[in-house]
Amino acid sequence: MTLLSLHNVTKTFGGLTAVNGLTFDLAMGETVGLLGPNGSGKTTALNMISGYLPLSDGSITLAGHAIGELGSERIAHRGVARTFQLVRALPSLSVGENVLAALAFRKAPLWGREAETRIETLLSDVGLAGRASQPADSLTYIDLKRMELARALASDPQLLLLDEWLAGLNPTELRAGIDLITSLRQRGITILLVEHVMDAVRALCSRCVVMNAGTKIADGPTSEVLADAEVIRAYLGE
Ligand code: ADP
Repeated sequence: MTLLSLHNVTKTFGGLTAVNGLTFDLAMGETVGLLGPNGSGKTTALNMISGYLPLSDGSITLAGHAIGELGSERIAHRGVARTFQLVRALPSLSVGENVLAALAFRKAPLWGREAETRIETLLSDVGLAGRASQPADSLTYIDLKRMELARALASDPQLLLLDEWLAGLNPTELRAGIDLITSLRQRGITILLVEHVMDAVRALCSRCVVMNAGTKIADGPTSEVLADAEVIRAYLGE
C-alpha cells in the first residue's frame, strides 16, 4: 500500500527551479534514500513534503489524502515527522524538556506523569535512557542527534523524514546510528532518508531515488541505482 505519493512536485525560487516535476511513491514500511549532489533539491523536497514550503506545482498525498496545501503543523498531526540538517535543540533546556516540548505539540498532547513516562520510553528508544535531566547543551553531537530523533518520534510518526541525520558521525557512532534507524524501520515506520554516507544508504535503503539539478534521474533498488552511469556522473559533477 502506498503511504506517500509525489506527483509532478515543483518548486521555483524566482527564476530557479529547485525541484522540477518530482514524482515518486513510498510504500508503507519502506526505507528509501533520497540522493543527489549538493543543490539538487533534496532538502527542498523534504520541506515541501513536511509543509515547510508551499508547492509551486504538483501534488502530494499521504495515505490517499492530499497534503500539498497543508502547513507543517497539520502535516505533522497527520503523522509526518522530520529531523533537520542542523540540529534544532533548545539548548537552555534539559533533554527531557526538549522532548516534552515535542510531546506538547502533538495532535494529542501529553502532559504530567503520562508525558514523563513517554519521555523515558522515547529516550530509551534512541539510546538516551536515564538522561532526561541532563542539560541539552552538555550533550555530545551524536547524543544531540539522538535527542532530535526522540523529538521527531514523540508524535508517533508513520513517516519519518531524515535530513542527513548520520552526517558528521565517526565510524563507531555511524554503526550505532545505522542500528538505531534499523530499529525504527523494524517498528514499521516508513522512512525517507536524505543521506550522503553511502555505507548507511546501502545498509538501510532497499530503494533509492536520485535527483540532479531538481530532476529525478534514477529510482530503483539501491545496488542498481548506485551502479547507474548517470548517477555516478551526477555525483562526480561531470
Ligand atoms: P540539496 O538539499 O539537494 O543540497 P536544496 O534543496 O537545498 O538542495 O537546494 C536546491 C536549490 O534550491 C539550490 O540551488 C539552492 O540554492 C536553492 N534554494 C534552496 N532553498 C532556497 C530558498 N529558500 N530560496 C532560494 N533558493 C533556494
